[in-house]
Amino acid sequence: MQSAVSQQTAANFKTDFYFQREIPENLEFLDALSWNFFWSWNYEAVNLFRELDSKLWEKCEQNPRLFLKKVGGLQLWQKANDSDYVAKLKSFSDKFEKYLAAKPNSFGKITEQNPVAYFCAEYGVHNSLPVYSGGLGILSGDHLKSASDMNVPLVAVGLLYRYGYFRQKIAHDGWQTETYLDSFATELALVPVTNDGGERILIKVRIRGREVFAQAWLAQVGRIKLYLLDTNVENNSEVDRLITGHLYGGDTETRIVQEKILGIGGVRLLRQLDVAPSVYHLNEGHSAFLTLELAREFLHENPEADFAEATARVREQCVFTTHTPVAAGNDTFPLNQIEECFDENYIAALKISKDEFFALGRTKPEDTEEWFGMTPLALRMARSANGVSEKHGAVSRELWLKMFPEITEAAAVPITHITNGVHAPTWIAPTFQELFERYVGADWTAVLKNQTAWQEAIEKIPDAEIWQTHRRLKQLLISFIRLKTFSKETGLHETINEREDTNRLFSPDVLTIGFARRIAAYKRWNLLLTDLERLLKMVNDAEKPVQFVFAGKAHPQDKKAKALLQNLMSLGGNAEWQQRAVFIEDYDQEVARYLVQGVDVWLNVPIRPMEASGTSGQKAAMNGGLNLSILDGWWIEGDNGDNGFSIGAAGDKDDADEAEINAEDAESLYTILETEVVPAYYAKDENGAQTEWIRRMKNALATLTPQFSSDRMLKDYIEQIYLQQT
Ligand SMILES: *Cc1c(COP(=O)(O)O)cnc(C)c1O
Repeated sequence: MQSAVSQQTAANFKTDFYFQREIPENLEFLDALSWNFFWSWNYEAVNLFRELDSKLWEKCEQNPRLFLKKVGGLQLWQKANDSDYVAKLKSFSDKFEKYLAAKPNSFGKITEQNPVAYFCAEYGVHNSLPVYSGGLGILSGDHLKSASDMNVPLVAVGLLYRYGYFRQKIAHDGWQTETYLDSFATELALVPVTNDGGERILIKVRIRGREVFAQAWLAQVGRIKLYLLDTNVENNSEVDRLITGHLYGGDTETRIVQEKILGIGGVRLLRQLDVAPSVYHLNEGHSAFLTLELAREFLHENPEADFAEATARVREQCVFTTHTPVAAGNDTFPLNQIEECFDENYIAALKISKDEFFALGRTKPEDTEEWFGMTPLALRMARSANGVSEKHGAVSRELWLKMFPEITEAAAVPITHITNGVHAPTWIAPTFQELFERYVGADWTAVLKNQTAWQEAIEKIPDAEIWQTHRRLKQLLISFIRLKTFSKETGLHETINEREDTNRLFSPDVLTIGFARRIAAYKRWNLLLTDLERLLKMVNDAEKPVQFVFAGKAHPQDKKAKALLQNLMSLGGNAEWQQRAVFIEDYDQEVARYLVQGVDVWLNVPIRPMEASGTSGQKAAMNGGLNLSILDGWWIEGDNGDNGFSIGAAGDKDDADEAEINAEDAESLYTILETEVVPAYYAKDENGAQTEWIRRMKNALATLTPQFSSDRMLKDYIEQIYLQQT
């Protein structure tokens, strides 16, 4: 399998194509390490890079390829003569070699010869591979890392966006501005995918009435291969080269052509690589066109078969995960765009009429006005469908009931759920990992698979150790905040994202609440601001104050979200607010790590039931942070009454109006802050220790870490989805 990407050609290509850098012989492993994202979830490896030149490491935004290009010879030779460093490098090199040498496990029909093929429009593996925007990408990145750690045969397919997702700046007036950076494949850890003869593999997909070519890049994620398709190829016209230009940047026409490259191009790439998947996992509907390509292939090989038989065969192989709890959040395309994208020949090869083709993407096949939806297509063509939390499973069954005329009750709709999780070694702070190594064992990630054993081990960690570790991380976050919000030129007004004096900003003794997420209406960024007077009273309490750290991006076209953000930034120039609130620009994985690892409380206030799962709160919990959340998404399953705080009631109030719900939830939020969160945080025992708070932290660490790890999630996917046959 995958002999097409021979190591030899990759090595030759590197010599011709990438910069040459002389690295001292005893440090050569650094180069090998920089080509595999395995380094990114092993803190010893991160340290090996950072230690060389920590300023440069930050300047290169933790991109080891760029870093090795720029790092000075003096730094390299100093380390080459530092026997401690060389020993650490050797030790990690042994670990890495051993990790890669292990033979893949088999899980029933999932074998090295017949792996899972995982398709997603975005991957948040690491910031230095800028092909993600938010939650969906982080989730798929974590899925790959768990697959690597558990040695599951899995091959992933996605797109390489030349300009990635936008970078956020906030202007002096509090308005968000966007810039897109050009990323250069030669500065990323990406290897061109070639055939045995060393020539680049080119995939052909018919788009806009012409053949469009896509090349492929390989990102090595531990043991997992992630292939990224890229239309920035000379043979293509200028506009076609931009198909994979921006992530979620364009209109529906751009989306449809991107999704055709992903779904149809992705299957064609796997064929060229001789990969024969046992299961195709469509992670969100963006890749659903792949089911049509599988049907076309089947009919080509079985000329006597019809589309119904092809569908049956395709369904056996495909499983689908939906992530959106509202109809409007699902991709739909106008029929003329579908028609332009799939010409008569393609439809004829499927042996169906154009109307039958359109009907594949409709909730009601006979409704000729309805646009073509990727979720209906995926639901029809996959044997299994699942939501991403228990609640979201139920919401999805309601939402898609209309597609099953023979079913009268939502409960009978064939959509199940697998609750999302996050990759523990990626999200848990190194200092906490060291603590786990000491008290749980060097193999703490293995113990994590056993809830009881994990819980017992966490209980044994002394309170003082938990508190000290947390406090150090909080101080790290505060330094990060001071650095990020410092500005020499604040214009006429200081806002909460920039100030001229940040030296005394924020205190480690003050209860710190984090709120970072996309600025979308349902996330209710303004709920906290409902009663300003009450909020400021809490924030400025002389004995028990509260401080807030915010981060998040608004969609470039969403003016309402930007206005909301602008309001939060200044609160009309309120000086009290500006002392105790900060906004960190450009929320991404790196910012998220500082926040979830350093705050005391992680706040989430979505409108029920709009949070399909949410995962950022899981990351906070794994670092001893306490969730303060609406009972929605994953938190319904996570809350045990003592490992965080819940706002409002559990049920959805379909009959209540929105203003009423908002008022109730705001009231509940303030009350819980005033009467539960603040008193619990500041409660001290006779020795002055925050015992009550630490007890809750331990409860969160003990109960939530195993339950919401992506290892648990992947195990569920294997047992309940990949290996189920209907
Ligand atoms: C984890 C994460 C998300 C998803 O978190 P939600 O709780 O779903 O908002 C989004 N963006 C980044 C950068 C993350 O790290």
